Amino acid sequence: MRQFEAAADHLALKRGIREYLAAPNRELVVHFPVAMDDGTIRLFTGYRVHHSTVLGPTKGGIRYSPEVRLNEVRALAMWMTWKSALMHLPFGGAKGGVACDPRQLSRDELQRLTRRYASEVSPLMGPKSDIPAPDVGTNAQVMAWIMDTYSMHRGYSVSSVVTGKPIVIGGSVGRSDATGRGIMIITREAARLRSIPFAGSRVAIQGFGNVGEAAARLLHEQGCKIVAVSDIDGGVYNPDGLDPRAVLQHLRTARTLTGYPGAQPVSPAKLLELPCDVLIPAAIEGQITGENAGRIQAGIVVEGANGPTTPEADAILADRGIPVVPDILANAGGVTVSYFEWVQDLQSYFWTEQEINAHLERLMVSTFARVAALAQERRMTLRTAALIVAVQRVADALMTRGIYP
Ligand code: GLU
Repeated sequence: MRQFEAAADHLALKRGIREYLAAPNRELVVHFPVAMDDGTIRLFTGYRVHHSTVLGPTKGGIRYSPEVRLNEVRALAMWMTWKSALMHLPFGGAKGGVACDPRQLSRDELQRLTRRYASEVSPLMGPKSDIPAPDVGTNAQVMAWIMDTYSMHRGYSVSSVVTGKPIVIGGSVGRSDATGRGIMIITREAARLRSIPFAGSRVAIQGFGNVGEAAARLLHEQGCKIVAVSDIDGGVYNPDGLDPRAVLQHLRTARTLTGYPGAQPVSPAKLLELPCDVLIPAAIEGQITGENAGRIQAGIVVEGANGPTTPEADAILADRGIPVVPDILANAGGVTVSYFEWVQDLQSYFWTEQEINAHLERLMVSTFARVAALAQERRMTLRTAALIVAVQRVADALMTRGIYP
């Protein structure tokens, strides 16, 4: 909300428009039972929030985490509105979630929870109305169950109702790496802007899931030195660089990052304060705060997660001359390729990986250039510039459509 208010101030938005854009359009809270493997029944709480429908059907991920709350889902839904608007995608913003710890659930429990949640929120879901995707704690398999549940209710297969699906049921090539690929492209562009040589630059990444792992791998392929990575349980640091593929292999067999040969352990919090050229928080929100922002040693921060930097930290980093490439730009590769997936499903005509990556590259590069130019011209942070472009676009569309009735 504070980020939005800052952009709204710059744009001098009229009060009614400001109030309308600040509030979610609709919110659904569901409490539903799941039969557990041990024969007991547990009640779960889930959410789906549509922040804005001005630019098109709503788009945004579904998160499974014990921390999921309505206010968090609201904030994440609003960020999706700005992210899609910034990237010129024909979507409004949404987010969903279930308060649960997916690591404590068996595969069968996860499937039952997913199918019941999908049934409960199905009044809000549809290929022309609201299209979910993966987020923290969910993956392509979860999307497959949602697609199947929705399709069973309809009586025919509707692949375009979710994105981030497995390729065999209408998913897109390039989608699983898309957020990480977008981060790689944005890091390259931001490094150029700061005159930091991209190849050989030292990168620390908090989060080693769908976003952080792909970003690490793709940046490593471009010659960057991945000095540290971490997940929820801990991390590893080697100033001479890590091989992300070997780290992933280690994680798969040891089920933990720690113990990776030739690296020192580092906590996810301490990782943020390591000396590096690029810091990529790619886990969850609220990691760089007023408390630790003064100790960040990176040359640039590239937000892989949504909302990893608090407004207090933003002010400190700006004062210290450390640019932050905001989430709605830096991690927009995911929703951008989700858009490509949705278009392919609607047309039942599929593109090659080369085509996907070329379109993604073009959109990320041009959007970065537009935001960087505005930030420089108006002497503002990249975050404020990105938000101004996005909020302006939604406000323009809103005024052009007019207020109903
Ligand atoms: N969960 C991702 C995000 O926060 C992707 C959303 C999507 O593809 O709809 O951007």
